[in-house]
Amino acid sequence: MRGSGRGIARIGGGQFRCPLCGLPQDRVATLEHDWVLLEPGMRVPAHLVPARHRWIELSDGRVAMYGVCPVDGTQRCRIEHRLACAEQRRPDLWPCLTTLRDENKRMARRQEPPPPPGDDPLPDVG
Ligand SMILES: [Zn+2]
Repeated sequence: MRGSGRGIARIGGGQFRCPLCGLPQDRVATLEHDWVLLEPGMRVPAHLVPARHRWIELSDGRVAMYGVCPVDGTQRCRIEHRLACAEQRRPDLWPCLTTLRDENKRMARRQEPPPPPGDDPLPDVG
C-alpha cells in the first residue's frame, strides 16, 4: 500500500495523499463551510453517480451537492475519493438494491433443496 505509515502528506495545491492508498485527492471547500476530499481530475456525468454523491463545482471554486431530479444529462460532477479508494470500504450506494439483494438471499434460503440424485433401487412392488 502506497503511503502507508506516512499519514496525510500534503502535496500542494489543495491536494493531499490518501493515508490508506497513498493516491492524491483534492481537498475542496463546500457551501456548508466544510471540506470534502474529491477524486482529482475526474468529471463524471451526473446520471452515472448515485444520488447524494454528486458534487458539482461552483464558480468560486467550492462544491455543492447536486440535487436536481431528474438529472440534467449534460451535468458533470465530481466524486469523493472514498468512493473510488481501493483501500476503503464502500458505503451502501444503492440502499434499495441492497434491500432487494437481502430479500432474495432470504428467499433463496427458504427454497427446498432439490432431491438428491438417487441411485436407490426401485421398490419391489411384486
Ligand atoms: Zn485512498
